[in-house]
Amino acid sequence: MKCPHCEHKIGMFSKVLNSFGKTKVCPNCKKQIKVSPNLKLIAFLIVPVFIAHIFVLKPLVVALGFSGKGVIGIWAVLLVVLTVQLKSAEPE
Ligand SMILES: [Zn+2]
Repeated sequence: MKCPHCEHKIGMFSKVLNSFGKTKVCPNCKKQIKVSPNLKLIAFLIVPVFIAHIFVLKPLVVALGFSGKGVIGIWAVLLVVLTVQLKSAEPE
């Protein structure tokens, strides 16, 4: 992910993003940033992911002997994690 202020690359699992507190500080430009999921992208992806889940992944998981329940929860988490982005948290 990139800092919205200076384009500095920040790893999703870096210390900066996993520190406590709602707002984080970019290690490069020291400006405030926050992590927020891209809701538009989630809304756009949720239907194809859900369809793929029902027709492909759930039968596969069940065929492997696992319960199909709970798999959708993994997808929900993955969807949020994959669409998450950094936004400016600087006061306007
Ligand atoms: Zn920065």
